[in-house]
Amino acid sequence: MSPVPEVRHNLCLDHAGVKAWLMEMDPEALQVLWSEADAVRQSRVGDQVHLRGLIEASSHCIRHCLYCGLRAPTEGLDRYRMKASEILACAHEAQRLGYGSVVIQGGEDPGLTRDFVAEIVQTIKRDTPLAVTLSLGERRDEDLRAWREAGADRYLLRFETSDPVLYRRIHPNLPGVPSDRLAQLVRMRSMGYEIGTGVMVGIPGQTWDALAFDLLRFRDFDMDMIGVGPFLPSPRTPLGGPEAATFLAPPDEQVPNDELTTLKMVALTRLACPDANIPSTTALATLDRANGRELALMRGANVVMPNVTPVHYRARYEIYPGKACLHETATACQGCLEGRIHSLGRRVGKGPGGRNRTEYKNMSASDFYH
Ligand code: SAM
Ligand code: SF4
Repeated sequence: MSPVPEVRHNLCLDHAGVKAWLMEMDPEALQVLWSEADAVRQSRVGDQVHLRGLIEASSHCIRHCLYCGLRAPTEGLDRYRMKASEILACAHEAQRLGYGSVVIQGGEDPGLTRDFVAEIVQTIKRDTPLAVTLSLGERRDEDLRAWREAGADRYLLRFETSDPVLYRRIHPNLPGVPSDRLAQLVRMRSMGYEIGTGVMVGIPGQTWDALAFDLLRFRDFDMDMIGVGPFLPSPRTPLGGPEAATFLAPPDEQVPNDELTTLKMVALTRLACPDANIPSTTALATLDRANGRELALMRGANVVMPNVTPVHYRARYEIYPGKACLHETATACQGCLEGRIHSLGRRVGKGPGGRNRTEYKNMSASDFYH
């Protein structure tokens, strides 16, 4: 492996420094942040943009997350669970389009059983060169181990917020099962998964302090993949209606769910976690359809997750309304994204695009719970 070039930046990334950068509004100062993040991205992960084919396998969910349109209490949603043959067809489509990996995502759906998922993973790994990422919520260790043994390479599980009080409010436990996404992430790493996490920016109740701690947590846990997107209110949910006002922090403490703050968080994430894979998220592309994808790629991101779910299922996977790229076929998405990537002078990544780790820290959950 060639030596990693040293990139120096003078930005102070302790809690106070991160918070100050998140709140910075001076365009000249921000230009420094953007160019430092882009330089670190270029030096540490290069000009390739890795494309991961997103398969939205199931819109069934047993959880009650207060922000998500798929939550169990949502009525009037025409829910679906794709057949194994449909999921496999999506994986082959991703391979045909030249993508190096697929992400199989869904609600926390007990109908996606251990054996059902394991067989799909095993078949994809047998029949294609694709890396497989799973993002199926909080699952028992037995499931996670079986999927890893079947060949799954990576698991995405956003911890959503590092503020424990806010987390408990917006992400209620299932009866008798305390939710601890960070602990699951640490266990998955010890099972051999690459682990991915992330947060929403601007959840009602999220303070600047909390968002700055989120960033430090990405770094302290040495996350392999980090997705940061704006919170987009869904009218089907408690946080998308009048109840949201009761969650808001005082105005000078509440983080806005806007593009600028999200981009600052993407840039700071690149500086704090220089060799992580960082997507330009669909939520940001939804907020700014014209430039959202490009701006994130210019400010630290190096991954895009084009949707390869059959178009007739996509509207039924409504996390929030008006999602970008809802009606484009997988082929149209690929053409559009490749054009956008080339327009930035970047190129589409080849192969699975795993993390090129330049440092490994052996950690356990107990190291971080004080
Ligand atoms: N069920 C799995 C889970 O929760 O990890 C995967 C699917 S879930 C829909 C994927 C991510 O969507 C969540 O981790 C959350 O960050 C994001 N999300 C949910 N509701 C959202 C909203 N209203 N605005 C922006 N992102 C949202
Ligand atoms: Fe279910 Fe994930 Fe949505 Fe929570 S965020 S309701 S676990 S799909």
